[in-house]
Amino acid sequence: MVVSMKTTTETHERLKAGGLRVTSQRLLVLQILEESREHLDAKTIYVRGREHDPDLSLATVYRTLAKLKEMGLVEMCYLARDRRRAYYEATDKGEHYHFTCLGCGRITEIRTSCIEQACREMAEKLGLVFTRANVCLKGYCPACAARGED
Ligand SMILES: [Zn+2]
Ligand SMILES: [Zn+2]
Repeated sequence: MVVSMKTTTETHERLKAGGLRVTSQRLLVLQILEESREHLDAKTIYVRGREHDPDLSLATVYRTLAKLKEMGLVEMCYLARDRRRAYYEATDKGEHYHFTCLGCGRITEIRTSCIEQACREMAEKLGLVFTRANVCLKGYCPACAARGED
């Protein structure tokens, strides 16, 4: 039913470590996100999940995503311009930031140590304790910028 045994075991461990009762549907939803290279919305997760488990419902997917988010295993981000559609990704990808092109809507993942460094500096200066940075950058990708979008 699942794609690779190794990921299953690891995903299973992460669920358990998060204090969640491991159900096959939680495992499935988390695994779909962990194996995906893109950001997925609940509908897409549902469609992919149904290929493995015909009993999966969209309501279960939403409920599971909320639980996984609470556990810190999944992160939600708004990538669409109108912020109407929420996308999800597994947190095991490591911290990164999102750049949304206002022209074509393409999402670019940005990895930089600058944000982390800024947090460290502010922590020292202001005594703030940071748990996570959620940075959304907007602008134009090289192709759209060249086309003179504004
Ligand atoms: Zn673009
Ligand atoms: Zn991302």
